[in-house]
Amino acid sequence: MRYSQIREMDISNGEGIGVSLFVQGCHFHCKGCFNQETWDFNGGKQWTKETKNKFVELAGKPYVKRISILGGEPLADENITEVYFLLQTLKNLYPQKKIWLYTGYLLEDIWNSPKDQNYNALRALVITYTDIFIDGQFKLSKQDINHKTHKWVGSTNQRVIDVGLSFKENKIILYKGVV
Ligand code: SF4
Repeated sequence: MRYSQIREMDISNGEGIGVSLFVQGCHFHCKGCFNQETWDFNGGKQWTKETKNKFVELAGKPYVKRISILGGEPLADENITEVYFLLQTLKNLYPQKKIWLYTGYLLEDIWNSPKDQNYNALRALVITYTDIFIDGQFKLSKQDINHKTHKWVGSTNQRVIDVGLSFKENKIILYKGVV
């Protein structure tokens, strides 16, 4: 896997103070994507064992309450294996920290896909490691300039899903945020 950047103190991509990892590479190529420099799977920097260790250490800082994984496309075939192992490590070490993941895939499409094809089993497992799952490709025609739908989405078709509640209720439940 390659990655675009790591933000050690991030307040833009989830609730509260967090750390963020922008992975490199995305096949979706949404018109108007705000992060087109992350499309090329050969761009960015190599994700090494040392990089992972550094990110895990940063995530463990006491002021970090949330870990965000975005891109690029974290669930692309090229990235999914490393993202899976990263989230597994983070959840084991820091079960109380919230994991946010941004993807162009739809949760139902992953969940209902045959698990023996195209890394779908890993994608489904990654969902189980996340607390907040922000899904859907950016649609320029549905751009939400003032973030009326939600402060963490770019277009109104995208959803901020509360994964724990959704599994509990067996239907998609949107995240309401800390009140
Ligand atoms: S899925 Fe995200 S990163 Fe990929 S093109 Fe669409 S908006 Fe950009």
